[in-house]
Amino acid sequence: MTRIWITRPLPDEVVAAARKLCDDVVVRENTMPLEPDELRAALTNFDIVLPTLGDQFSAQVFADVAAPRCRLLANFGVGFNHIDVAAAQAAGVTVSNTPGAVTDATADIGVMLMLMSARRAAEGERLVRAGDWAGWHPTQMLGLHMSGKRVGIVGMGRIGQAIARRCHFGFGMEVHYANRSAKTLDFPAARAETLEELAGRVDFVVVAVPGGAETRHMIGAATFAAMQPHAHLINIARGDVVDEAALITALETGQIGGAGLDVYEREPEVPEALRALDRVTLLPHLGTAALEVRTAMGLMAVDNIAAFCAGDRVPNAV
Ligand code: NAP
Repeated sequence: MTRIWITRPLPDEVVAAARKLCDDVVVRENTMPLEPDELRAALTNFDIVLPTLGDQFSAQVFADVAAPRCRLLANFGVGFNHIDVAAAQAAGVTVSNTPGAVTDATADIGVMLMLMSARRAAEGERLVRAGDWAGWHPTQMLGLHMSGKRVGIVGMGRIGQAIARRCHFGFGMEVHYANRSAKTLDFPAARAETLEELAGRVDFVVVAVPGGAETRHMIGAATFAAMQPHAHLINIARGDVVDEAALITALETGQIGGAGLDVYEREPEVPEALRALDRVTLLPHLGTAALEVRTAMGLMAVDNIAAFCAGDRVPNAV
């Protein structure tokens, strides 16, 4: 009989859908990522695993389990840089993800971070909460006006485009972007040849590429040196895309105007130096954190499992 392991508590509707497919569904109640022995147990004891962010299915884990019982890792989330896909495939394990379900919610958080960073929302909220607000005056807490400015999207994929659309149609912004391949877009946007060229042109650099070895520290000292001193960096992608130490230096020295971050290099660790800075907005990886979005992601993962069990093509195989 097929055994399925869901590695975190998920919305009830998702677990019910998985149980409709198969009688033997085990839900791990722990909210923390799988430990090394659990990663090996996942491959050894289950036919299908529904893992998520933080479950590090590295090449070593696949090397440790010579003949895995597991045949499908139906990841919950579009980002799958915690899974070594080449090692999985070599071991005969299919990997799928949940694209699309996350796009609008993550784009919304991206725009929220742009506004929060530009208009100093978190700093202002801290001021009021601390009881230190002395009252309105014309030069109090002046930030950067966002409407009509230039946004630079790094990675014009689903989420990058959704952010660009919000910026263009909602805020009358000029859209610029850098992407490894050419894109056909249904809104006006200018492509930059290089990341540095893009960084120099815009008021907001918004990062929306996947994480992983190819994009690690793609945004670093050279990007910050190219950015204008009033410009803001927004990262809703993965923490390791940005060189966090270089970002701290750029913020501390006033090389850039501010930053809005949803993700971090060593989550959930956020460096004290970053937490000490007023000009940075820090969110706890909220990109898709809404019940209907998490339900849609889970149901998409279950659809991938259903197709796999039926012997059909897995719709979101990566
Ligand atoms: P997507 O549609 O695949 O878009 C990714 C974009 O990045 C594409 O434009 C792609 O270029 C570009 N890209 C991919 N690999 C690259 C590389 N090695 N170097 C340069 N550019 C590269 O993905 P998406 O659905 O927009 O999601 C993007 C990422 O957002 C996810 O992978 C995930 O890590 C992150 N995310 C975060 C949250 C959150 O909670 N904060 C939520 C959802 C997703 P091409 O057009 O050439 O393929």
